[in-house]
Amino acid sequence: MEAETIELNGNKIEPGETADLKLYVGRLPSGDRIYIRGKVYHARKKGPVVLITGGIHGDEINSVQIVRRFMDSGVLDNLQRGTVIALPVVNVYGFIYFSRDLPDGKDVNRSFPGSSSGSLASRIASTVTKKIFPIVDIGMDFHTGGASRYNYPQIRYSRSDKKSKELARVFGAPQILSRGTIPKSLRRVALKENKPFLVFEGGESLRLDGHSIAMASRGIRRVLHHLEMIDNSPPCEEPSVHILNTLWIRASQAGLFTWAKCSGAFVKKKEVLGVIQDPHGDLNIKVLASRDGYIVGHNNAAVVSQGDALFHLGYSYEMWEYNETS
Ligand SMILES: [Zn+2]
Repeated sequence: MEAETIELNGNKIEPGETADLKLYVGRLPSGDRIYIRGKVYHARKKGPVVLITGGIHGDEINSVQIVRRFMDSGVLDNLQRGTVIALPVVNVYGFIYFSRDLPDGKDVNRSFPGSSSGSLASRIASTVTKKIFPIVDIGMDFHTGGASRYNYPQIRYSRSDKKSKELARVFGAPQILSRGTIPKSLRRVALKENKPFLVFEGGESLRLDGHSIAMASRGIRRVLHHLEMIDNSPPCEEPSVHILNTLWIRASQAGLFTWAKCSGAFVKKKEVLGVIQDPHGDLNIKVLASRDGYIVGHNNAAVVSQGDALFHLGYSYEMWEYNETS
């Protein structure tokens, strides 16, 4: 069936057209206008509308690069059906200041659905939910670990949502986490509106991570192929580890931290994951695994405080073979 003309932010986008998107969100103190920019790829044939977002946390540059590279890959130039809306940098302010949050300390992904008269974070959230989200059927939002924490490439989906679970399986990230939604997150909005939504985590803030970028790109292609929007997708070479529960292993003392095991590794209970030492040679504490499991994320900080999260460990897991038809 022939696609219809889309009306987005006052623009008309015809079937077969790729259009630039500029969503006004406010002004910098300098007076310069700030926009969320992106592209809309609108195929000639009718199909699902997929939203791909990066940089909701402004310092998660890896997520920006994932979306940018995917836009640059040419894959979206040959859409068989449906529409892809790609927004590489949602939190433009945070991106400019190398910050997760807005200048007032507010987090966009804790501000959904947002308000056009609220805080800056709330206004950005509202721009996405009011101007873009109404026409979206499926979303994929890209992130990295916060601060110095590295996340192994993983998909997070809402346990209660069968359609998201199916897409998580199709995405085929190395790890798949079944997680509740965070209040006021975009994923919570999607769950309320019964729209399948995946959150990808990979790498750490302010750094690029080639492995995560590659895994994300392959996953997006598998999802779009599953939705019959593109011709082919790369196979999943290894089964995904489907993780049902996670815990944090924290620093029992402050000190210099050196990890011995990192994200992606399978570890046995009581295995040494790293050491905490003081600068004078008096302290030498082994950090041990409290259970068998897969490391989902680890802390790259060289100096840690007491109680800092060192390892995110996934226990209660199963292997998911990739199965396009499942
Ligand atoms: Zn994030």
